[in-house]
Amino acid sequence: MAGDKEELRRRLSGLGFDEVRFVRLESVKGDGLRRWLDSGYHADMDWMERTADKRMDPDLVLSGAKSAVVLGVSYYGEGADPGGGAPSWARYSLYADYHDSMKPALAAAGRVIEETFGASPGDYRYYVDTGPVLERAWSARGGVGFIGKNSMLISRRHGNWLFLASIITRLDLESDAPLKGRGDPGSVGLLCGKCTRCMDACPTQAFPEPGVVDAKLCISYQTIENKGVIPARLRPAIGARIYGCDTCLDVCPWNRFAKAGRQMILSSRGDIGRMPLRELLALTPERFAAVFKGTAIKRIKLAGLLRNACVVAGNSRDASLAEPLRALLGHASAIVRGHAVWALRRLGDREGVARARAAEADPLVLAEYDGPVEVSAPG
Ligand code: SF4
Ligand code: SF4
Repeated sequence: MAGDKEELRRRLSGLGFDEVRFVRLESVKGDGLRRWLDSGYHADMDWMERTADKRMDPDLVLSGAKSAVVLGVSYYGEGADPGGGAPSWARYSLYADYHDSMKPALAAAGRVIEETFGASPGDYRYYVDTGPVLERAWSARGGVGFIGKNSMLISRRHGNWLFLASIITRLDLESDAPLKGRGDPGSVGLLCGKCTRCMDACPTQAFPEPGVVDAKLCISYQTIENKGVIPARLRPAIGARIYGCDTCLDVCPWNRFAKAGRQMILSSRGDIGRMPLRELLALTPERFAAVFKGTAIKRIKLAGLLRNACVVAGNSRDASLAEPLRALLGHASAIVRGHAVWALRRLGDREGVARARAAEADPLVLAEYDGPVEVSAPG
């Protein structure tokens, strides 16, 4: 299959992708994934273990795979942390779910590959973020950016605010040049120099080494992937982060070059970022479904969001939130009730929890009544 690589790049760029790079898969051998898994840093994300072999061998994903097209969409835009103790959201979450919104553009990209290289639909497969592929390592090899000590792919043009997608193909596309620095193009911290800002800023010290995140300690994991109890010792450090954490991304100096992407593919949901915590604590199933429809946030379900909102309320020092928290002491989910107990105790609301305790039978929730809690004094 022969065609014009630059023509392909131009047409893919025309679909709204902010980065279009090519990489020969033979040049990618894996990115420390095995070591990360063996260390148990993936917590209970067993799907990472199950897909590890495919991630390290693209031939298991598409037999005869030779190259990949790596595509980036910038989601840099308005700040997702409103400050002042209001709930803060991972920047990426304040868009329509990118897994869905990028798919039409990827399907169109596939058709472009067919037209420019005479490929058939069986000659490529595309993935957004969750596929069994090493997008970050491929992106580094293809020169989209480098892997920072914060473990993210960092672009010189877009900072670390890129959604990545990839199309594995049987085309023999020559690799684009990687960024130059000291060391191998895929190595962690290629252009970080002596900077350690991201690791220093992490509120839970979740980096056992540069470029490696222990998910068990990471607020993004705890507020999104963890479906159960958030360890009590981590809750104070969560602060106002209701969904995900951008701290190790926000501090990266490479973001000074970031500019808003063309966002032809993304649609903003900045309205979610402006919702008061009081309103979030009072979400009903109907309201949750209506507000979070079409977003990535809906995946953690109402109970997950209420759990996180309780933690943020407990850290808020706002005694007036005791009222909506008390209403959650009767919630159907033991996870929500337990975190509401913690939040009320942290706000010093002894009266509210004392009354509800008599009606509680779930050991998980009872443990929250008895565990140590440091009261956060009203601000
Ligand atoms: Fe630490 Fe937050 Fe980065 Fe996780 S996302 S490693 S908690 S700064
Ligand atoms: Fe590298 Fe500094 Fe950015 Fe961390 S904050 S990824 S160390 S440049």
